[in-house]
Amino acid sequence: MFIDTHAHLYLDQFSDDIDMVVELCKEEGVEHIYLPNVDAATVDSLHELVESYPSMMHPMMGVHPCSINENYRKELELALRLLEQREYAGIGEIGIDLYWDKTFHKEQQEAFRIQIEWARDMNKPFVIHSRDSLDETIDIVSHLQDGTLTGIFHCFNGNEEQARKIIDIGFLLGIGGVITFKNAGVREELVNISINHMVLETDAPYLSPTPFRGKRNQSNYIPIIAEQLAETLEIEVEQVEKITTQNAINLFNTPIQL
Ligand SMILES: [Zn+2]
Repeated sequence: MFIDTHAHLYLDQFSDDIDMVVELCKEEGVEHIYLPNVDAATVDSLHELVESYPSMMHPMMGVHPCSINENYRKELELALRLLEQREYAGIGEIGIDLYWDKTFHKEQQEAFRIQIEWARDMNKPFVIHSRDSLDETIDIVSHLQDGTLTGIFHCFNGNEEQARKIIDIGFLLGIGGVITFKNAGVREELVNISINHMVLETDAPYLSPTPFRGKRNQSNYIPIIAEQLAETLEIEVEQVEKITTQNAINLFNTPIQL
Protein backbone atom coordinates (compact mmCIF):
# COMPACT_ATOMS: atom_id res chain seq x y z
CA MET A 1 0.00 0.00 0.00
CA PHE A 2 1.14 3.48 -0.91
CA ILE A 3 0.14 6.81 0.61
CA ASP A 4 0.06 10.05 -1.35
CA THR A 5 0.80 12.62 1.37
CA HIS A 6 0.03 15.63 -0.82
CA ALA A 7 -2.55 16.01 -3.58
CA HIS A 8 -5.21 18.51 -4.60
CA LEU A 9 -7.69 16.11 -6.20
CA TYR A 10 -10.56 18.43 -5.27
CA LEU A 11 -9.51 21.07 -7.84
CA ASP A 12 -11.39 21.70 -11.10
CA GLN A 13 -8.86 19.67 -13.10
CA PHE A 14 -10.52 16.53 -11.67
CA SER A 15 -14.17 17.54 -11.69
CA ASP A 16 -15.00 15.42 -14.77
CA ASP A 17 -13.30 12.16 -13.90
CA ILE A 18 -12.38 11.96 -10.22
CA ASP A 19 -14.12 8.57 -9.88
CA MET A 20 -11.88 7.14 -12.57
CA VAL A 21 -8.76 8.59 -10.91
CA VAL A 22 -9.83 7.03 -7.60
CA GLU A 23 -10.23 3.65 -9.35
CA LEU A 24 -6.74 3.94 -10.87
CA CYS A 25 -5.36 4.78 -7.42
CA LYS A 26 -6.91 1.64 -5.95
CA GLU A 27 -5.46 -0.45 -8.80
CA GLU A 28 -1.99 0.93 -8.02
CA GLY A 29 -2.38 0.42 -4.26
CA VAL A 30 -2.55 4.14 -3.47
CA GLU A 31 -5.15 3.74 -0.74
CA HIS A 32 -4.81 6.91 1.28
CA ILE A 33 -4.48 10.46 0.03
CA TYR A 34 -3.83 13.56 2.12
CA LEU A 35 -5.36 16.75 0.78
CA PRO A 36 -3.86 20.11 1.80
CA ASN A 37 -6.18 23.07 1.41
CA VAL A 38 -5.30 26.14 -0.69
CA ASP A 39 -7.55 28.93 0.59
CA ALA A 40 -11.20 29.95 1.22
CA ALA A 41 -12.09 29.32 -2.45
CA THR A 42 -11.15 25.61 -2.26
CA VAL A 43 -12.74 24.71 1.09
CA ASP A 44 -16.11 23.53 -0.29
CA SER A 45 -14.70 21.29 -3.01
CA LEU A 46 -12.17 19.87 -0.52
CA HIS A 47 -14.93 18.90 1.91
CA GLU A 48 -17.09 17.49 -0.90
CA LEU A 49 -14.36 15.14 -2.07
CA VAL A 50 -13.71 13.93 1.48
CA GLU A 51 -17.44 13.25 1.91
CA SER A 52 -17.43 11.16 -1.29
CA TYR A 53 -14.45 9.05 -0.21
CA PRO A 54 -14.21 9.35 3.58
CA SER A 55 -11.97 6.34 4.18
CA MET A 56 -9.49 7.27 1.45
CA MET A 57 -9.31 11.09 1.44
CA HIS A 58 -7.91 12.91 4.47
CA PRO A 59 -8.29 16.69 4.55
CA MET A 60 -5.91 19.27 5.95
CA MET A 61 -6.72 22.90 6.63
CA GLY A 62 -4.58 25.99 6.20
CA VAL A 63 -3.83 28.91 3.88
CA HIS A 64 -1.32 28.53 1.03
CA PRO A 65 1.41 31.24 0.94
CA CYS A 66 0.36 32.31 -2.58
CA SER A 67 -3.07 33.17 -1.14
CA ILE A 68 -1.60 35.49 1.49
CA ASN A 69 -2.23 39.15 0.62
CA GLU A 70 -3.55 42.25 2.39
CA ASN A 71 -6.66 40.26 3.38
CA TYR A 72 -4.76 37.40 4.95
CA ARG A 73 -6.32 37.85 8.39
CA LYS A 74 -9.73 37.01 6.90
CA GLU A 75 -8.31 33.88 5.29
CA LEU A 76 -6.72 32.82 8.56
CA GLU A 77 -9.93 33.46 10.48
CA LEU A 78 -11.90 31.09 8.25
CA ALA A 79 -9.24 28.37 8.39
CA LEU A 80 -9.07 28.57 12.19
CA ARG A 81 -12.85 28.46 12.54
CA LEU A 82 -12.95 25.31 10.38
CA LEU A 83 -10.15 23.72 12.37
CA GLU A 84 -12.22 24.23 15.51
CA GLN A 85 -15.34 22.75 13.91
CA ARG A 86 -14.13 19.73 11.94
CA GLU A 87 -11.58 16.96 12.00
CA TYR A 88 -8.44 17.54 9.92
CA ALA A 89 -5.35 15.36 9.60
CA GLY A 90 -3.02 18.35 9.73
CA ILE A 91 -2.38 22.01 8.95
CA GLY A 92 -1.55 22.76 5.34
CA GLU A 93 -0.37 23.83 3.13
CA ILE A 94 1.52 26.70 4.70
CA GLY A 95 4.87 28.39 4.12
CA ILE A 96 6.61 30.98 2.02
CA ASP A 97 6.65 31.40 -1.77
CA LEU A 98 8.84 34.15 -3.21
CA TYR A 99 8.86 32.80 -6.76
CA TRP A 100 5.70 34.45 -8.04
CA ASP A 101 5.55 37.57 -5.91
CA LYS A 102 7.56 39.05 -3.03
CA THR A 103 5.06 41.83 -2.23
CA PHE A 104 3.61 40.07 0.81
CA HIS A 105 6.78 38.45 2.11
CA LYS A 106 6.26 39.87 5.63
CA GLU A 107 2.61 38.79 5.66
CA GLN A 108 3.62 35.32 4.45
CA GLN A 109 6.10 35.02 7.31
CA GLU A 110 3.49 36.15 9.82
CA ALA A 111 0.80 33.77 8.47
CA PHE A 112 3.32 30.90 8.48
CA ARG A 113 4.22 31.50 12.13
CA ILE A 114 0.58 31.85 13.19
CA GLN A 115 -0.38 28.57 11.48
CA ILE A 116 2.60 26.76 13.02
CA GLU A 117 1.34 27.90 16.43
CA TRP A 118 -2.07 26.40 15.60
CA ALA A 119 -0.36 23.11 14.77
CA ARG A 120 1.42 23.22 18.11
CA ASP A 121 -1.75 24.07 20.06
CA MET A 122 -3.79 21.39 18.28
CA ASN A 123 -1.03 18.82 18.32
CA LYS A 124 -1.17 18.32 14.55
CA PRO A 125 1.50 17.92 11.87
CA PHE A 126 1.89 20.63 9.23
CA VAL A 127 2.89 20.60 5.59
CA ILE A 128 5.33 23.23 4.38
CA HIS A 129 5.39 24.79 0.94
CA SER A 130 8.59 26.71 0.21
CA ARG A 131 9.66 28.13 -3.09
CA ASP A 132 12.80 30.27 -3.32
CA SER A 133 12.65 30.26 0.47
CA LEU A 134 13.91 26.90 1.72
CA ASP A 135 16.61 28.27 4.07
CA GLU A 136 14.15 30.77 5.46
CA THR A 137 11.39 28.22 6.14
CA ILE A 138 13.91 25.81 7.73
CA ASP A 139 15.06 28.70 9.91
CA ILE A 140 11.55 29.64 11.04
CA VAL A 141 10.64 26.05 11.89
CA SER A 142 14.00 25.53 13.69
CA HIS A 143 13.38 28.55 15.90
CA LEU A 144 9.86 27.46 16.80
CA GLN A 145 10.77 23.78 17.30
CA ASP A 146 10.41 22.86 20.96
CA GLY A 147 10.28 19.14 20.34
CA THR A 148 6.53 19.06 19.67
CA LEU A 149 6.38 20.20 16.03
CA THR A 150 6.13 17.58 13.26
CA GLY A 151 5.51 17.72 9.54
CA ILE A 152 6.72 17.53 5.98
CA PHE A 153 8.83 19.82 3.82
CA HIS A 154 6.66 19.20 0.78
CA CYS A 155 8.18 18.84 -2.70
CA PHE A 156 11.73 18.79 -1.36
CA ASN A 157 14.22 19.91 -3.99
CA GLY A 158 17.04 21.32 -1.89
CA ASN A 159 20.59 20.12 -1.35
CA GLU A 160 21.96 17.45 0.99
CA GLU A 161 22.87 19.98 3.67
CA GLN A 162 19.33 21.37 3.70
CA ALA A 163 17.94 17.82 3.81
CA ARG A 164 20.07 17.09 6.87
CA LYS A 165 18.90 20.26 8.60
CA ILE A 166 15.28 19.26 8.01
CA ILE A 167 15.95 15.81 9.46
CA ASP A 168 17.78 17.36 12.45
CA ILE A 169 14.70 19.37 13.36
CA GLY A 170 12.59 16.22 13.19
CA PHE A 171 10.83 16.81 9.89
CA LEU A 172 10.23 14.61 6.86
CA LEU A 173 11.13 15.19 3.21
CA GLY A 174 8.19 15.02 0.79
CA ILE A 175 9.48 13.32 -2.38
CA GLY A 176 7.50 13.94 -5.55
CA GLY A 177 7.71 13.99 -9.34
CA VAL A 178 10.75 16.28 -9.39
CA ILE A 179 12.90 13.23 -8.53
CA THR A 180 12.07 11.85 -11.99
CA PHE A 181 13.37 14.97 -13.76
CA LYS A 182 16.87 14.16 -15.00
CA ASN A 183 18.24 17.68 -14.74
CA ALA A 184 16.63 18.75 -11.47
CA GLY A 185 19.66 17.60 -9.47
CA VAL A 186 17.64 16.46 -6.47
CA ARG A 187 18.54 12.75 -6.94
CA GLU A 188 22.23 13.44 -6.34
CA GLU A 189 21.36 15.32 -3.13
CA LEU A 190 19.33 12.42 -1.75
CA VAL A 191 21.70 9.50 -2.34
CA ASN A 192 23.11 9.64 1.21
CA ILE A 193 19.80 10.37 2.95
CA SER A 194 17.85 7.57 4.64
CA ILE A 195 14.41 6.52 3.45
CA ASN A 196 13.42 6.69 7.14
CA HIS A 197 12.99 10.45 6.69
CA MET A 198 10.92 10.45 3.51
CA VAL A 199 7.29 10.26 2.43
CA LEU A 200 5.86 10.12 -1.10
CA GLU A 201 3.62 12.74 -2.68
CA THR A 202 2.35 13.82 -6.08
CA ASP A 203 1.11 17.42 -5.60
CA ALA A 204 -1.50 16.45 -8.23
CA PRO A 205 -2.56 18.06 -10.55
CA TYR A 206 0.89 19.73 -10.63
CA LEU A 207 4.42 18.42 -11.17
CA SER A 208 3.72 15.23 -13.07
CA PRO A 209 6.57 12.73 -13.07
CA THR A 210 8.32 11.69 -16.28
CA PRO A 211 6.90 10.41 -18.70
CA PHE A 212 3.78 12.47 -17.95
CA ARG A 213 5.63 15.75 -17.46
CA GLY A 214 3.52 18.73 -18.53
CA LYS A 215 0.27 16.75 -18.29
CA ARG A 216 -2.13 16.55 -15.35
CA ASN A 217 -0.60 14.76 -12.39
CA GLN A 218 -2.63 12.06 -10.59
CA SER A 219 -2.17 10.20 -7.31
CA ASN A 220 -1.96 6.87 -9.16
CA TYR A 221 1.51 7.96 -10.37
CA ILE A 222 2.92 7.46 -6.85
CA PRO A 223 4.52 4.10 -7.83
CA ILE A 224 6.53 5.89 -10.56
CA ILE A 225 8.00 8.17 -7.90
CA ALA A 226 8.62 5.18 -5.61
CA GLU A 227 10.50 3.35 -8.41
CA GLN A 228 12.76 6.32 -9.04
CA LEU A 229 13.42 6.81 -5.32
CA ALA A 230 14.30 3.11 -4.95
CA GLU A 231 16.76 3.40 -7.84
CA THR A 232 18.26 6.59 -6.39
CA LEU A 233 18.74 5.10 -2.90
CA GLU A 234 19.71 1.68 -4.30
CA ILE A 235 17.07 -0.16 -2.30
CA GLU A 236 14.08 -2.30 -3.27
CA VAL A 237 10.87 -0.53 -4.24
CA GLU A 238 9.06 -2.69 -1.65
CA GLN A 239 11.24 -1.04 1.02
CA VAL A 240 10.30 2.39 -0.28
CA GLU A 241 6.63 1.42 -0.21
CA LYS A 242 6.73 -0.07 3.28
CA ILE A 243 8.80 2.61 4.99
CA THR A 244 7.25 5.69 3.39
CA THR A 245 3.77 4.32 4.18
CA GLN A 246 4.76 3.71 7.80
CA ASN A 247 6.32 7.19 8.00
CA ALA A 248 3.08 8.75 6.78
CA ILE A 249 0.97 6.69 9.20
CA ASN A 250 3.25 7.69 12.08
CA LEU A 251 3.04 11.36 11.16
CA PHE A 252 -0.68 11.78 10.58
CA ASN A 253 -2.86 10.74 13.43
CA THR A 254 -5.46 9.19 11.13
CA PRO A 255 -6.58 5.64 11.83
CA ILE A 256 -5.30 3.43 9.02
CA GLN A 257 -5.49 -0.34 8.92
CA LEU A 258 -2.45 -2.00 7.42
ZN1 LIG B 1 0.30 21.53 -2.88
